[in-house]
Amino acid sequence: VVAAETITRSYHGTPVVSEVSISVRQGQTVALLGPSGAGKSTLLRCLAGLEPVQSGTVRFRGETMSLPDAPPRAFGGRIGMVFQQFNLFPHLSAVDNVALAPMKVRGVAKSAARAAARELLERVGLGEHCEHFPFELSGGQQQRVAIARALGMSPELMLFDEPTSALDPEFTREVLAVMRDLAAAGMTIVVVTHEMGFARRSADRVVFMDAGRLVEEGPADTVFTNPDHERTRAFLDQVL
Ligand code: ATP
Ligand code: MG
Repeated sequence: VVAAETITRSYHGTPVVSEVSISVRQGQTVALLGPSGAGKSTLLRCLAGLEPVQSGTVRFRGETMSLPDAPPRAFGGRIGMVFQQFNLFPHLSAVDNVALAPMKVRGVAKSAARAAARELLERVGLGEHCEHFPFELSGGQQQRVAIARALGMSPELMLFDEPTSALDPEFTREVLAVMRDLAAAGMTIVVVTHEMGFARRSADRVVFMDAGRLVEEGPADTVFTNPDHERTRAFLDQVL
């Protein structure tokens, strides 16, 4: 679905993503791990077409992404992104948060957009909370609204950047359960996470980054039980 070929992304001449190649196939869940500052968020934004790369190419469904003509909403909603901070519109109810982009970007009629939004909110377990505003929802509920909002654009790829890092354990579980359901339903997912249990159980592949480089990748079981690289081992020893 999405592939990066030896991409380098620099800020002021300093590479923060260095010659990284990664490809994600349809239906796969890939967990992106690594220490703070490794370049995980930057790589994710490059995959979304939200950041220019200084060298290499990013392809989405075979089309090369070039930033100047990429629409502001990653590929017109074909790539959904969910961040650590939920970034909901504070003045809109849950259902309106989800219905907004389909109406504004796709021209879907309000009643149809709201009906679809209700279904999505039900799917993430928030059927009872459609009319609630973000301030009336827990962090976990807000994050599930954010996921429903991304799903509202029928994305072909979902990118998650530490979706549970701002949440208490109880709410983390709810959000991970929604992601697991999405994966089971065949969604293609790349997730930056520090939830090693989730990475191990739910990811098909694990990618470990350090200092801008892709150090190691492989099936979750292999990387967790028998990493090739000393740096991966040291990182896992620290976090497990
Ligand atoms: P974390 O786990 O803390 O979120 P990360 O792996 O997501 O870290 P990135 O956010 O991708 O790391 O940042 C990688 C490096 O790039 C860091 O050293 C950061 O300071 C630098 N960086 C990120 N964004 C910018 C920017 N807009 N301008 C300059 N440097 C930046
Ligand atoms: Mg980050």
